[in-house]
Amino acid sequence: MDLFEYQGKQYFARFGIPVSPGGVADTVDQAVTESDRVGYPVVVKAQVQVGGRGKAGGIKLARSADEVREHATNILGMDIRGHTVRRVWIERASDISREYYASFTLDRGARLHLGMVSARGGVEIEQVAAEDPGAIARLHINPVHGLADADARSLVENAQLDREAHAGAVDILKKLYRCFVEGDADLVEINPLVLTPDGRVHALDAKVSLDNNAEFRHPEWAEYRATEVLDEREQLARSKGLQYIGLTGSVGIIANGAGLAMSTLDVVNQVGGSPANFLDIGGGADASVMANALEVINTDPNVRSILINIFGGITRGEEVANGIVQALEHVQIKSPMVIRIDGTNAEEGRAILEAHKSDQLISQPTMLSAAAKTVELANLAEVRR
Ligand code: GDP
Ligand code: MN
Repeated sequence: MDLFEYQGKQYFARFGIPVSPGGVADTVDQAVTESDRVGYPVVVKAQVQVGGRGKAGGIKLARSADEVREHATNILGMDIRGHTVRRVWIERASDISREYYASFTLDRGARLHLGMVSARGGVEIEQVAAEDPGAIARLHINPVHGLADADARSLVENAQLDREAHAGAVDILKKLYRCFVEGDADLVEINPLVLTPDGRVHALDAKVSLDNNAEFRHPEWAEYRATEVLDEREQLARSKGLQYIGLTGSVGIIANGAGLAMSTLDVVNQVGGSPANFLDIGGGADASVMANALEVINTDPNVRSILINIFGGITRGEEVANGIVQALEHVQIKSPMVIRIDGTNAEEGRAILEAHKSDQLISQPTMLSAAAKTVELANLAEVRR
C-alpha cells in the first residue's frame, strides 16, 4: 500500500525523521487556514501518488494568503499524469542549499535490504542511475544484523555528501532504516533530502510503500486504507473479497491458488501476451465465485480475452466447469474465454465445457496451449478493433 506524501511524512515523524511543519487541505479555504497556522512562506503541494509533481505545476511557493488562494485553486482538481488532485499538503517553505537522495528497499534478488544514497537528489533516481550510476552509493544490509552506524557513515561518505551534512544525514539514515524495518515498509524514499543554508538536514519529500502482509500488526494503518487509491476494477474486487491486482495488459486471468495465478502470468508472458490482472479465486471455485471473478474482469476495458486456469484439488473439475457455465448465465462476458482444467475430475469438467463450447468458450488441455490460444484471441480482437 502506497502512502501519500503527507502520510509518509507523518510516518517519518514517528521515527524522529525531521520534516517541515504543515497540514492538509481539501479546499482552498482550508489551504489558507492551514497556511496562516503554519506561517509564510509556504509550499502548496499536490497530493497524488505519482512523481514529477513539481514539473507538472503541482508544487508552488506562496508568500501570502492571496498566493495560497491562487495556487490552491489551480492545483486542487488538477490532473497530474492521470491522477486527479483531491488534497494539498501545505508546509513551511524551506531554504535549500543542496538536494540529496536516500532510500531503503528490499532487494528480492539478493534477499537483502538495500540502502541507496546520492548527492544528486531532486531528480528521479532512475534518471541518475541511467546517466551517472557511480553517483549512487549502494549498500546491501543483512536484515538479521541491521544497519550499523559504520554502514550509515560509509553510505554518506561514498555518496560524497557535503561534509556539513554528514552528521545529520547519518542520523536520518539510521532513523529511516528503523522506519523501514519497524514500520514494515517495502520502500522508504526521501527525494530530496535537503541541506539548508544553516546546516540542517531534513526530508522535503516522502515516498513510503507499506508491506500489506504486516497489516495485522498495524491497526493505525486503517487511516491509510481509508484514503487508498484503487481503480474501479480493484474496488469491485475488494468488495467481492477477491485477491485481485490490476495490471495493464489485455489478457484477463483467473486461476485458483496464488502460485498457479503467478505461473499463469508467466506463461502468458512466455507466449508473447500481456496479463491484464492477477486474480486468485482460492480453493472454492463455485459458480458465485466464478461469476464474481468474471464480473471484475469484465469491468476492465483493456481485456480482449480471458484465460481461466484451474487445477482441481479438493475442488473437482466438474464443479468448476458447472460453475463457469452457471456464471455465464449471470454475467454477459465481453471477451472470449479459454479454460484449462486439470487435476481431480478434469475429464468430467472438460466434457461439460465441451457440451457448452462456442466461439466464446474454448477448452484447452494444457496450460501452455491455453495461454497460446488466449493470446492469439487477444491479438485477433486487437486487430479487429
Ligand atoms: P516531486 O517532484 O513530486 O518529487 O515533488 P518534491 O516534493 O520532491 O518537490 C520537487 C522539488 O520542488 C524539490 O526537488 C525542490 O526543488 C522543490 N521544493 C519542494 N519544496 C520546497 C521548499 O520548501 N522550498 C524550496 N525552495 N523548494 C522546494
Ligand atoms: Mn520528490
